[in-house]
Amino acid sequence: MLLRLENFSCGYGPMRVVHGLDFEVEKGRVLALLGANGAGKTSTIMSLAGHVAVQEGRVVYQDQDITHASPMKRIKAGLAVVPEGRRLFPNLSVRENLIVGGYSRPKPQTSTNMQKVISLFPRLGERLNQTAGSLSGGEQQMLSLGRALMSEPQLIMIDELSLGLMPKMIDICYDALSELKKSDQTIILVEQSTERALEVADQVIVLESGRNVWQGDAEQARSDAGMIDACLGLSHNGTSG
Ligand code: ATP
Repeated sequence: MLLRLENFSCGYGPMRVVHGLDFEVEKGRVLALLGANGAGKTSTIMSLAGHVAVQEGRVVYQDQDITHASPMKRIKAGLAVVPEGRRLFPNLSVRENLIVGGYSRPKPQTSTNMQKVISLFPRLGERLNQTAGSLSGGEQQMLSLGRALMSEPQLIMIDELSLGLMPKMIDICYDALSELKKSDQTIILVEQSTERALEVADQVIVLESGRNVWQGDAEQARSDAGMIDACLGLSHNGTSG
């Protein structure tokens, strides 16, 4: 078991936004965390990264209690985030952004890790000297994913992979996820698109107002799509309503 949340609650100051989550993620598995806007998905992964306070419960990672560990300690232990909105350094080059992503690892690893990122996203290899701010949205998402991979993560947490991207770019990013999955990478994926998430997910959790309202494997989720759409505030044909 790579990660276990026990009665996990988190929030901001006195305000609790995620209530009593209990779940486990096994090594090499992909967990999709679904939910409508404001359900608490981002808060959950930002709390697992050490940026949002745990208010109750425990987080156990590789048999260690990391409930109150610092963000840096978590990065060094192999937890990485691909944040919503990418948060790249727009004036730094693609290469420099990747180097920053690998700063928690020994220097000799940098070029090996950069080669791995480039083989996953050849487009980034063609744009190493270009500033991150001049990349297209899809390329920026690749760079954000690549930057996280530079830290050699055991667990990568991705917030809204497909949001705002052209379908072709979404395909490229999901192909990369499938590749990562083949190499046994453990992933927590926050995604607005249930359909996309179910392409790669092994397990699914649906949050509603910060609570777990549905949990199961991806096959169950596909056969229970109507129920999941209802939790997400969507009608059965998947449109808003
Ligand atoms: P979205 O898809 O809109 O990002 P989400 O499921 O990721 O939604 P969160 O962003 O985690 O949801 O938000 C959960 C709740 O926490 C919301 O009610 C939100 O207003 C609140 N919240 C988020 N960030 C903060 C913050 N920095 N301070 C106070 N409340 C916050």
